[in-house]
Amino acid sequence: MPEPALHVRDLKKWYRDPEGGRFLAVDLPSLDVSRGEALAMRGESGSGKTTLLNLIAGILPADEGAIEVGGTRITGRSETQRDRVRAEHIGYLFQTFNLLPGLTALENVQVGMSFRPRRGVAPRKAAREALDRVGLSDRRSHKPAQLSVGQQQRVAIARALAGHPTLVLADEPTSNLDRARAEQCMDLLLAFAEESNAALLVVTHDEGLVGRFERVEHLAVPVGSQA
Ligand code: ADP
Ligand code: MG
Repeated sequence: MPEPALHVRDLKKWYRDPEGGRFLAVDLPSLDVSRGEALAMRGESGSGKTTLLNLIAGILPADEGAIEVGGTRITGRSETQRDRVRAEHIGYLFQTFNLLPGLTALENVQVGMSFRPRRGVAPRKAAREALDRVGLSDRRSHKPAQLSVGQQQRVAIARALAGHPTLVLADEPTSNLDRARAEQCMDLLLAFAEESNAALLVVTHDEGLVGRFERVEHLAVPVGSQA
């Protein structure tokens, strides 16, 4: 039996517009992803991709519908409870990496680990292993500004996966990379997620990269949205 990592039903999120009205930013009837599965979700700019990931991660509260992560419901829960589920289950690869500039590569991965320790593995050791896995063994002590964009992206991948999360969310992970780097990044993300038996959900508007995924879905701009 596949182990469910993500379960979404009838999810809706509205935002306020400047005129004081509201518009529908996410309208997703159904989405299920199991551990070990990789799904690419395509959607044009403004289709609600980043909003959707922030809802799944529990960073934003949903207005309607149900989300379960690792078998735990996060909809209708407090921010503190959502934070706890995120820490336990989710690795998030942000579009702009969100590395802390004052910390080294190793410290950045280790700080990520402090939210999701791996049972029986010291955080520093797990962080070192994750950096080894992304090919940055010789860049542990470098700070983000001393790394190329592709290397920063790999630090962010190591941080997202070091804790062996149930679900990895990646927001347009290749948008800042040239084509060759983008393909390497996607290969690394797919392989690392598979080795960790994580579910991987990548959102992108890049048609060229979805061919690597067995499962591809389309995120439509919600009807009635002004996007
Ligand atoms: P995508 O990541 O697919 O480009 P987003 O989720 O960022 O889409 O945005 C979906 C829509 O919601 C867009 O029309 C965007 O302008 C709008 N939007 C995003 N964040 C906010 C916000 N905090 N407040 C109001 N509108 C927002
Ligand atoms: Mg976005």
